[in-house]
Amino acid sequence: MFVLELTADLSGSECSADALQARAVGAYVGMAVGDALGATVEFLTPREIHEQFGIHQDMRGGGWLRLRKGQVTDDTEMSLALGAAILAEGRVEAGAVAAAFSEWMRGKPVDIGHTVRRGISQYRLTGTTQMPENDYDAGNGACMRSLPIALCTLGADSSLVAQANRTQSHTTHHSAVGDAGTLTVVRMVQAALLGGDMGHLKGLAEALVAEQPLYRYDRRRMENPGGFLVETLKAVFQALFATDTFEGALIEVVNRGGDADTTGAILGMIAGALYGYDAIPRRWLTALDAKAATACRDQARALLRMSPHCLTK
Ligand code: MG
Ligand code: MG
Repeated sequence: MFVLELTADLSGSECSADALQARAVGAYVGMAVGDALGATVEFLTPREIHEQFGIHQDMRGGGWLRLRKGQVTDDTEMSLALGAAILAEGRVEAGAVAAAFSEWMRGKPVDIGHTVRRGISQYRLTGTTQMPENDYDAGNGACMRSLPIALCTLGADSSLVAQANRTQSHTTHHSAVGDAGTLTVVRMVQAALLGGDMGHLKGLAEALVAEQPLYRYDRRRMENPGGFLVETLKAVFQALFATDTFEGALIEVVNRGGDADTTGAILGMIAGALYGYDAIPRRWLTALDAKAATACRDQARALLRMSPHCLTK
């Protein structure tokens, strides 16, 4: 109920096309920047990060995947695969999404999560595009690639947004906890795109906690967040709400270590939508893999163009 009221409030707010595009591109490039920055310290503890880098705040590549400086990982690559499938079909269609993920896996990606590999393998074996519900599927692999859904369903009825979210998520991950957390991230990005402020985003996080109390993020500081979406989002919410810039929020979350490329990617998409493209530090933009950066910019604009919000303008 709260979410419906919020959407109604924001759709009436001033939001020029240029400002909206800057936030959409900021979200997509912000996600890639977060992925590339965080990947260097993925699976390190905050203490190990501190010993190696002091504060990790510059693009340098390396990490357990031995990445080039500015290189992105599966978080960005799967988002681009999903976005391309949506653009080719003109809608979120499960078969096209599953085929795109399968094609991506064929390209021998630098990194792939266990649940993602299992879902794609199932699709190849049986043609199924929707995994059965499983409590162990609450990993962050569906959330990290959810940005194209937020962009292409902007302005859609909230039940359609939720349906599109499930369609893409369930190709590999199907759990009530995961669906609720991922849908909240989609809604936070959409609220920020439409001019919502930090108060709106906190309201959405609180609505998630009311629905799924596991997500309570106001207790212990979340360090070393693992691949469980609950841990990932606790770290993301704490970092987002404790800071007031894109740069500050991203540095705060990746220095917590753990699944840092994914906390970076999710924080980056929300903060990019909130603060806009111009808030992303230049030193990160120039270091970001150029091909990925161009693909992110192009997809952000194209996905936004097909959204109900823009089509009805
Ligand atoms: Mg990754
Ligand atoms: Mg990761």
